[in-house]
Amino acid sequence: MAERQRLCAISVDLDEVRHYYAIHARATRDSGSEHAVYDRALPRFRELAADNDVPLTLFVVGSDLERAENRATLRAWAEAGHELGNHTLDHHYDLSRREPAEILQQVERANELILAASGQRPVGFRAPGYVMSDAVYRALDEAGMAYSSSVFPCPAYYAAKAAVILGYRLTGKHSSSIISHPAVLTAPRVPYRVGQPYHRAGAGLLELPIAVTPGLRLPVIGTNLTLLGPRGARGLVRQLVGQELINLELHGVDLLDAHDGLHALARHQPDLRVPLARKWAVFSELIAMLRGHGYAFVRLDEAARRLSRNAA
Ligand SMILES: [Zn+2]
Repeated sequence: MAERQRLCAISVDLDEVRHYYAIHARATRDSGSEHAVYDRALPRFRELAADNDVPLTLFVVGSDLERAENRATLRAWAEAGHELGNHTLDHHYDLSRREPAEILQQVERANELILAASGQRPVGFRAPGYVMSDAVYRALDEAGMAYSSSVFPCPAYYAAKAAVILGYRLTGKHSSSIISHPAVLTAPRVPYRVGQPYHRAGAGLLELPIAVTPGLRLPVIGTNLTLLGPRGARGLVRQLVGQELINLELHGVDLLDAHDGLHALARHQPDLRVPLARKWAVFSELIAMLRGHGYAFVRLDEAARRLSRNAA
């Protein structure tokens, strides 16, 4: 039997700073940092990718492309060989609860805008807030997407998010965040074709779940990795070594800190209090460690191609 492939894909969701205020239901905003993800984080991700020779997959919110600077930025990323994925038109946290026609429009319109801006048509999709439904998968099929990377079967994240939403509700504030049906926690944690319901395996679209550890299913995403620091992050990711695909999900804010004009937001987001240099060290050390274990770094679309060949 041939040796199993070892692939690692790093993706970055480009949720602009305004989405974080929406989650935290807070009125105080830092002014002058509205475009921190595109203007400050993305140049750093380019440098991180170049220094470590890894391709990245960026999940783009279509409405951010109304801004000419953002369109130019993404064109440059596409020309440099990175992948642009679809993170919907408006990043509605309650996408899964909307009408089928609106869901489809959120996917298709984002594809059109990203194609027009960059020359690259997305084939991959990531849901806002990791909340999926059978209706969203149907829309992805209709829009001709090749894969989704939206399932995050993580009880710890689920409990924390439910607690935050409840906390805001108890204090009379409204968070735009919603949670999935708890059955998603039983979804496979390795790539699978979705069935009905989507958290069971079937013959539908290829889903590349976001990394959680075996056993406890601890979250292995940028926010947690930067909070743990280089040593703790390596310990967590080491638990994934041996898997065919390690799917590491980061966010634009993972290469920002409070000094990027985000002091007000940092009061609610502990990961923004981690200094940029430490975050940088976390990611470059993880890449080096995984290379040492024989992992090849690929875009998610490439991972999807190779995995679906094997699954066929
Ligand atoms: Zn997002």
